[in-house]
Amino acid sequence: MDSSENVTVNINGTKFDISERTWQSIKTSLYETHGGDKMSQLFTKNSDDYFFERHPQCFSEVLGYFQNRGLHMPGSICPMEFKEELKFWGINAKEMSNCCYSRYIGFFDDQKMLNMLDTDESNRTNERLYLDRCRRQQDWSGVEATVWSVFEEPSSGKLAKVLYVFQDNIVAIKQIIILK
Ligand SMILES: [Zn+2]
Repeated sequence: MDSSENVTVNINGTKFDISERTWQSIKTSLYETHGGDKMSQLFTKNSDDYFFERHPQCFSEVLGYFQNRGLHMPGSICPMEFKEELKFWGINAKEMSNCCYSRYIGFFDDQKMLNMLDTDESNRTNERLYLDRCRRQQDWSGVEATVWSVFEEPSSGKLAKVLYVFQDNIVAIKQIIILK
């Protein structure tokens, strides 16, 4: 192929010489993803290259996809970052080859699990704050909260604390018994 038919794509200073045909595939994907109006904002057309402010290492794999070599994820790249790059270049992550897709999906499963654990911990903290507030009240709701927290967190330190708080509520219990 005549070198004049090649196109130079400059990704943050790293240059890739690609065929006009591959460049057309990339441009079509960008057009379909971002729309015609945004095209001029995606890259700068210089006299000898097309400049993109994107991740060069990810682009190597993006290029492989457009050159029909399959889609693989660079080992040193965070899957979150790769996801963003795929989104920019208009590639569906499901197109990824199995060898890398399991690692990609595994990462997002782990993130989901971490978020669930975070939410669970935050719910437990809110519950604890609520019980602490209730315990400070000198009535039955205080007594209930105290007893409830023993079942919720039966650690020895917690139990001692709870028994201490329980003493405060004895006055309330006595009053209730007297009223009956
Ligand atoms: Zn792979």
